[in-house]
Amino acid sequence: MKKITIAFDGYSSCGKSTMAKELAARVGYTFVDTGAMYRAVTLMALRANLFDGEGKVDEDALRKLLATVTVTQKYNPELGQAETFLNGENVEGEIRNMEVSDRVSIIAALPFVRTEMVRQQQAMGEQGGIVMDGRDIGTTVFPNAEMKIFVTALPQVRAQRRYLELKGKGEDVTIEEVLRNLEERDYIDSHREVSPLRQADDAVVLDNTNLTRAEQSAMLFALYNERIKD
Ligand code: C5P
Repeated sequence: MKKITIAFDGYSSCGKSTMAKELAARVGYTFVDTGAMYRAVTLMALRANLFDGEGKVDEDALRKLLATVTVTQKYNPELGQAETFLNGENVEGEIRNMEVSDRVSIIAALPFVRTEMVRQQQAMGEQGGIVMDGRDIGTTVFPNAEMKIFVTALPQVRAQRRYLELKGKGEDVTIEEVLRNLEERDYIDSHREVSPLRQADDAVVLDNTNLTRAEQSAMLFALYNERIKD
């Protein structure tokens, strides 16, 4: 059967990864969470103290560090999901915290960071049979993807979902902090010069404000079946 490329893009915390992961498992494709890659680079910059007091990053030092770094994702069968590794170290837990979330869009706006991440992502998807989620997958990484989804939902609904997820992991956050963070990231992600977040012309929009997971899965699976026939 034909193996296609499936691109998920959209705003922060609207459940892209969850649906992309689920679809990948259902159709037997590889799932790649590109946000995790930008998060791992951000964690590396934080650990190396590359941010000054105003949140500006030392770009020269980051450029050098980036040349030495490998970010990989490996499927953990016990958890039933992929985990992110930074130079072989499992950083899955750490990359989701608020400290990383507060800085990741600054790092992701740097052109040299994007060039390197996009290069790695394109290499991962060379053979097709991949579901990738991010902000620029349908526009920059795989502009020829056969199936493109652009996901959105009301900010309050997204903040509530992310807040519950973080609380569930024991993070000490307020819903206001979560909402501020996702609105800030959406703004930076949509306004940066290189590969800003935008809907590809040929993407199907999925607003999941009022949709259940089952409804979304059914819709995505139906679209997948259409696209593999084309
Ligand atoms: O998907 P997630 O919310 O984990 O992504 C974290 C951040 O990484 C985004 O807010 C964005 O700044 C950046 N990102 C990006 N391009 C991608 C994926 C993520 O700029 N393809």
